[in-house]
Amino acid sequence: MSNKSMRAIVTGGSRGIGKAIVKELASRCSGILFSDIAFVDDDSNKTAEEIKKEIGNPDINIYAFKADVSKFEDAQATIDAAIEKLGGVDILVNNAGITRDNLLLRMGESEFDQVINVNLKSVFNHTKAVIKPMMAQRYGRIVNIASVVGLIGNAGQSNYAASKAGVIGFTKATAKELASRGITVNAVAPGFIETDMTAKLNEKQRESLLVNIPMKRLGSPEDVAKVVGFLCSNEADYVTGQVIAVDGGMVM
Ligand code: NAP
Repeated sequence: MSNKSMRAIVTGGSRGIGKAIVKELASRCSGILFSDIAFVDDDSNKTAEEIKKEIGNPDINIYAFKADVSKFEDAQATIDAAIEKLGGVDILVNNAGITRDNLLLRMGESEFDQVINVNLKSVFNHTKAVIKPMMAQRYGRIVNIASVVGLIGNAGQSNYAASKAGVIGFTKATAKELASRGITVNAVAPGFIETDMTAKLNEKQRESLLVNIPMKRLGSPEDVAKVVGFLCSNEADYVTGQVIAVDGGMVM
């Protein structure tokens, strides 16, 4: 499959790592649709137009789609919209995610459920909806954004760690199921990346994080997007079921 003609869906693509992934994939794709929960009706087109301007390629089709990734029906609607607008789908990046940090002693049931639904059930929802068209064309690239916290745990993030460890297990199981159909499934596990999600960290928390990062800096959204781009490219045709950490050497 020619890289230039690929069609991609990125969940949570309007900001942070998701937006960097949309921009990275733009050089390989004829069209991209990204979903986001916060759009009010006509805001979505504006966001898509702004990202298209930043990309600077008038030929690429960029669409924004309002959807709650944790809802099964919204995921189906996202895949249907991508097929209608882009003519098909070759790449799915399950990126949307949230944190609701708390020590287990204080964590409420809804904090646990929300994180599992947005971070893990969303991956099931979108993968389930996309595999039929991908199997029919015998080609697909699925990349799930996990986290190093899903590999090593983190105090105050039992909900988040469970969701991301779940994403890693789901990635490996579906990679085994789909390999013979021309579909690869991989996970990228970012360490600490400069986005709205980590903007809440204070100086003291940042300093203590850097102690454990051999490269002595937080990552950028682009650091993650480049690895996602590789996994979606023909260079990664023989790579499936892998978890690639992008963390400045934090976990090894
Ligand atoms: P972010 O800046 O907070 O952006 C999250 C994106 O997900 C936003 O576009 C948001 O949409 C979307 N989203 C959240 N809930 C949604 C829902 N229910 N339905 C649809 N979209 C939803 O986060 P980020 O830092 O870029 O993180 C992206 C991914 O990387 C997440 O899976 C996160 O767990 C993972 N990750 C991040 C880090 C890090 O250090 N930043 C580290 C490891 C892993 P709205 O704009 O509409 O709210």
